[in-house]
Amino acid sequence: MEGAAVTALYPGTFDILTHGHLDIIRRAATLFDRLIVCVAQNEAKQPLFSPDERVQMLRDTVSELPNVEIMAFEGLTTAFAQSVGASVIVRGLRAVSDFEYELMMALMNRQLAPGIETVFLTASSDQIFLSSTLVREVGRLGGDIESFVPRPVAEVLRRKLAAQA
Ligand code: ADP
Repeated sequence: MEGAAVTALYPGTFDILTHGHLDIIRRAATLFDRLIVCVAQNEAKQPLFSPDERVQMLRDTVSELPNVEIMAFEGLTTAFAQSVGASVIVRGLRAVSDFEYELMMALMNRQLAPGIETVFLTASSDQIFLSSTLVREVGRLGGDIESFVPRPVAEVLRRKLAAQA
């Protein structure tokens, strides 16, 4: 298999795309031949944005990266990885608080699909405290979110919040 192209999957909710996600995407895109960023429906989290809106935010932002594709998915991440021929799942690690959940998920995914490796990229130091939840909350309270998300995404959040008011 030496030299075979490696497809990696970066799954997440992306219930507002942040510079933290984009940093992981850009770095993972240099490590793997093909990177599929997949948007989990994740109804349990009651996302603010629909799956289509989240896919669009990503498409609008990473269009300049030729080996990155954006898809939506439902169901098991490992099943989706197998269906697109991905052998790697990429996740971002921020503070210690991410670690236990991420470790549990990685071990569960290895049980479900032993051929798929989870690879963690550490958050960049200036984004280590950046989360979608916090950005949505700051936006909802009228704070300036432009340094946390791409400008068009900030605009999408403003419109969404105005429509809900
Ligand atoms: P999920 O609901 O799957 O955790 P998120 O959209 O919150 O989805 O996050 C997707 C992935 O991106 C996770 O691995 C998360 O740890 C990572 N991530 C989120 N924010 C950052 C950040 N600021 N820096 C690095 N990785 C991040």
